[in-house]
Amino acid sequence: MTATPSPSPDPAPTSADAPQPADRKRVLLAAPRGYCAGVDRAVIAVEKALEQYGAPVYVRKEIVHNKFVVRTLEKKGAIFVEETEDVPEGSIVIFSAHGVAPVVHEEAATRKLATIDATCPLVTKVHKEAVRFAKDDYDILLIGHEGHEEVIGTSGEAPEHITLVDGPEDVKNVEVRDPSKVVWLSQTTLSVDETMETVDALKDRFPQLISPPSDDICYATQNRQIAVKQVAADSDLVLVVGSRNSSNSVRLVEVAIGAGARDGHLVDNAGEIDEAWLDGVRTVGVSSGASVPDVLVEGVLDWLAERGYGDVEIVQPMEESITFSLPKELRRDLRAEAAALAGGGTDARSS
Ligand code: SF4
Repeated sequence: MTATPSPSPDPAPTSADAPQPADRKRVLLAAPRGYCAGVDRAVIAVEKALEQYGAPVYVRKEIVHNKFVVRTLEKKGAIFVEETEDVPEGSIVIFSAHGVAPVVHEEAATRKLATIDATCPLVTKVHKEAVRFAKDDYDILLIGHEGHEEVIGTSGEAPEHITLVDGPEDVKNVEVRDPSKVVWLSQTTLSVDETMETVDALKDRFPQLISPPSDDICYATQNRQIAVKQVAADSDLVLVVGSRNSSNSVRLVEVAIGAGARDGHLVDNAGEIDEAWLDGVRTVGVSSGASVPDVLVEGVLDWLAERGYGDVEIVQPMEESITFSLPKELRRDLRAEAAALAGGGTDARSS
């Protein structure tokens, strides 16, 4: 990680705040949106692996939760599988940005697979917290969505110590061994507000509940939620580009509605927008989840422009400048490439 973003406490007024003529159609485009540093790193890891080792390269689960990204990588020679047992022995397999349980590494070693771990470093941080608190014999209450890959991976670090808490309504079901030795952790891509509701409810039940040393909800999730809230406050309709299995994208729609948008929808691309949603709409807010390439947002903006919403204003409450190093398995080769290319340009895709 190279920098820590700091949301402006008092974002400067934008033109979105200025009075608008009654019939003016416009788009408020949230920034930051789209690719985060962890997704960028994971996608580049697959591309680099294909370049360095040739196709096929196997990827366990969707590398990131976006159909377009998965299809694009498939065309380049990546083969997506559900489990390591689906990978032929002696092959290369990449683990997705959502992280895996230790047992998956063990299975890969048994099958003599060469592995590249594209787990986002911010997910790895939560894994390490789970291991540390389990070692100190805490009961760990993991706030997250049942069945989500990240939750499965984190839970696998200490299955005997971790209890999943799937939202505030699940708090009443939680049982712990010792209420004086309980800590909460969370999935990285949740709604910040809903997570704090869950934490408050847990604290009511377990007043000695310990918080993690730093927020588990990642910078990208938080920044995209702050930006979409600002957009939603002035929008009749908010369109979030993202896939339905993308947790952070789904949360953006919920956050937008909660922040005052009259209507909100998640769409994979412009082809999924229903013209009827535009009835009586003057201002359309647009954002995208952390696994969404901007080409899909551009498609949505073009679609809107064709229907009279060509006036686009960017609403940017903060800058983002985080990047992550590539997985170490690739970095060895990338160093050699960098030496060979000495004097060449930088990777334009870095976020
Ligand atoms: S959304 Fe956050 S935790 Fe997930 S890959 Fe991106 S930076 Fe990492």
